[in-house]
Amino acid sequence: MLNNDLEVTLHKADKNQLKAKPDQDKLGFGVYFTDHMFVMRWNRQQGWHNAEITPYQNFSLDPAAMVFHYGQAIFEGMKAYRDSSGQILLFRPMDNLERMNSSALRLCMPRIPVNAVLKVLKALIYLDRDWVPENDGATLYLRPTMIATEPVLGLRSSEEYIFFVIKSPVGAYYAEGFNPVRIYVEDTYVRAVPGGVGAAKTAGNYAASLKAMAEANKKGYSQVLWLDAIDRKYIEEVGTSNIFFVIGDQLITPKLSGSILPGITRDSILQLARDLGIKTQERRISIDEVIAAQEDGSLKEAFGSGTAAVISPVGELCYQDRTITINGGRVGDLSRRLYDNLQAIQRGQQEDIHKWVVRVG
Ligand SMILES: *Cc1c(COP(=O)(O)O)cnc(C)c1O
Repeated sequence: MLNNDLEVTLHKADKNQLKAKPDQDKLGFGVYFTDHMFVMRWNRQQGWHNAEITPYQNFSLDPAAMVFHYGQAIFEGMKAYRDSSGQILLFRPMDNLERMNSSALRLCMPRIPVNAVLKVLKALIYLDRDWVPENDGATLYLRPTMIATEPVLGLRSSEEYIFFVIKSPVGAYYAEGFNPVRIYVEDTYVRAVPGGVGAAKTAGNYAASLKAMAEANKKGYSQVLWLDAIDRKYIEEVGTSNIFFVIGDQLITPKLSGSILPGITRDSILQLARDLGIKTQERRISIDEVIAAQEDGSLKEAFGSGTAAVISPVGELCYQDRTITINGGRVGDLSRRLYDNLQAIQRGQQEDIHKWVVRVG
């Protein structure tokens, strides 16, 4: 259905329903939720309907709702930032909504009307504007989500869905400092397979990754580096982030093969690097090539990229029985430069030549 304008009902929370704001210094990640949420429903007859902004509240779902059984669930993750004048900014929100539609297509779920949803997002953020943190580095994290709600156990795609957006004030990712992390190169479990759903932000991908992460954590590593499912050799992603290597004078990231999530931060970093005159490559890169580059001294830096951390420097990789130390375990110059650059654009402190930033209100 091409309903590019949604009719949205507004049910504001009563004054006495408003929640106490959490301590801005102890926000953590995704623990607190704002006063309002957005919900709309879909069925085949009406398309998207019953769109409403409501007080944050529970859902009532039939236990047979298909999402509980067959996992049709997709989501997005994006942030609202404050600039120095207090204005609220979104970073490439249309790319998130378009990516949600790509995920929807892969999971046989309905498309959302992206222009109308962006309008609603802005109104929703403005309504809860007092929840957008002012603290340095803190942001308001937005979680658009779609789930299958038809109560039928027969396996097919659901004919009813809920799309909703919840929002959580989150603390600065680098509250403890911009420090490199230790990563375990995973060669037992895989994240995604060719022809699978690795390129979709669908819930099952994350459930499937938990065991590898738990085992890596137990060994003292903060994340896993995923290798490809066929050769167990080509690098895919790190945890829930894309990965970059600086080898010689090249900034290299695995090319989007269908099993890698097409990160918006990944795309922005490639663009920024090109703007800075840095040579970039999107291609297959094997763990053996990374080891060889470390041995001959050409491996300079490695970092993950994603909305949560922007850039997460990698200080050490553990692969089978070897330890690969990168840049002496320190943050690399390019990692820091790209981090500072992208942060400055997201916070309205640097010229936004690519028109990535969208103002709220
Ligand atoms: C969300 C996500 C990313 C990063 O995407 P961004 O758009 O940069 O936040 C990378 N890999 C996985 C598996 C993800 O879920």
